[in-house]
Amino acid sequence: MGLIAGGSAVLAGAPWLGPVAIAAESSDPDLVVFNAKVYTVDPLMPRAEAFAVKAGRFMAVGSSEEIKGLAGRRTQTYDAHQMTIVPGFIDAHNHAPGAILLYEVLVGNPYDVEFVTIESIVEKLRVRARETPPGTWVEGYFFDDTKVKGNRTLKIHDLDEVSCDHPVAVRHRGGHTSYYNSKAFELAGITKNIKDSAAGTYDRDRNGDLNGRVTDRARLVFNTVGNRPALTAAQTQERNRAAQAYISKQFVRYGLTGVHHEGGDLFALQEIRARGDLLHRVSYEAQDEMLEAMLKVGIATGFGDEWIRFGATSEHTCDGSFSERTMAMSVPYPGVEPPYSGNVMFTQEELNGWVERMHRAGIQVNCHANGDIAIDMVLTAYERAQRLFPRPDPRPKITHCTLINEDLLRRIKSIGAVPAPFTSYGYYNTDKFHFYGEELMQRSMAYRSFADTGITAAAGSDFSPGPFSPLMGIQGMVTRTGWNGETWGGKQRITVDEALRVNTINGTYATHEEGIKGSITAGKFADFVVLADDPHIVDANKIKDIAIVQTVTGGNTVYKA
Ligand SMILES: [Zn+2]
Repeated sequence: MGLIAGGSAVLAGAPWLGPVAIAAESSDPDLVVFNAKVYTVDPLMPRAEAFAVKAGRFMAVGSSEEIKGLAGRRTQTYDAHQMTIVPGFIDAHNHAPGAILLYEVLVGNPYDVEFVTIESIVEKLRVRARETPPGTWVEGYFFDDTKVKGNRTLKIHDLDEVSCDHPVAVRHRGGHTSYYNSKAFELAGITKNIKDSAAGTYDRDRNGDLNGRVTDRARLVFNTVGNRPALTAAQTQERNRAAQAYISKQFVRYGLTGVHHEGGDLFALQEIRARGDLLHRVSYEAQDEMLEAMLKVGIATGFGDEWIRFGATSEHTCDGSFSERTMAMSVPYPGVEPPYSGNVMFTQEELNGWVERMHRAGIQVNCHANGDIAIDMVLTAYERAQRLFPRPDPRPKITHCTLINEDLLRRIKSIGAVPAPFTSYGYYNTDKFHFYGEELMQRSMAYRSFADTGITAAAGSDFSPGPFSPLMGIQGMVTRTGWNGETWGGKQRITVDEALRVNTINGTYATHEEGIKGSITAGKFADFVVLADDPHIVDANKIKDIAIVQTVTGGNTVYKA
């Protein structure tokens, strides 16, 4: 059962194990935190009042009295005044798009629910078009098709109002669909006679004309047409450093001390670390050339250190998107004509080959699979690779792993795969759940089913697609009730304590690092968050509004309200 009531009455009954000191030189702790409500996420001592930090690690955890006794003359002390402290949050799937946030046109709100008008989108892009040479792309980011005032749909003619001389694209924050103007279609040589494939579609209106929306791999033809702003190598490096430093600041503002990055400029990450601007720990998930380089020179998962470490592969995208309704399902999308059941990117054979290649090279495999069809394919490939080349405890990752069934659960458990389902969607995206209906939502983002099956699921915000606030994620997991008051798939609710585990220790399990971080345990890295209120006590529909008071990574305060 959860510790619902807070305060000293509960603490008095907590099973103290006493302070557990790690072997360190006999000098004083650097920091003693006391008079706190500490949720350690460590089953050996779930609750504590205080802890001591030395050289960036927790040195002892226990009662205020015990821990205060460790303080010496050089120890900094912090009276938490009964505030709540939890381990630093871990996001196990994040695109960390700092450069987009800093340099691109944002047509939606990256961090929260906010409705915009089509006019505001057109106007923002017009401003950009005015300062962009004709023939060069004008692009908008963070569009959310269900966060438009008046329930309007973004159409090709809306984007023609931005410009007829520039190719224009508006990217859905979900990352799998984009909206283009006529100029873009013209440059790509796409007319309404184009055929769709299994991996992507050119959507049409009732008359059969292109409506501007293009899904998944059908968008690839646009990549090679039109001009893109040319930057020098030095400009690119400078932007990447600024972008990585910026996103790191945003992460710690929301209490994240560890994030699994989907690719990004690895060199820039190392540079900002050297200058002290990397405030969170990075599990680097390589893609494209970087992944090929790992294979070529023999870098396996786990290489690196506690700040920047090679994790699993970047998500190998096997199907479409949940939020944009292109994921590959065994049933057609309710109410869609002509019948449509999503996009699949690979054949089973292609997927088997890719998975085997990574697995053999000692690189933890990570596939993006949303629909039950795609999850089945991914598990088939994982099972095959592990059968041919057994590795101890490989923990292959399934990014999203959205729509499950009993058979998939059994296979995920049996192969020891780690799902990283969406986190903030339970709050942020409930306006999309009606596209699936209650029966499918009862099997989606199935945190309850994973917990009950003994599967360790980690939190995967998938930012940009979902806001990355861990507290918004926890609220959604606990309530399954969204910003619009709708509750979907209520049987997948988990408790606050379970949601804390998902957002902390389970993220470290995904990278085989549960022994060094993810809980407030003596010997582990001192990554923690001070919360203004206790998520066990506040109204569950207000968990996302709890203020982050302070974020600490490796004993250093990296954010303070
Ligand atoms: Zn993703």
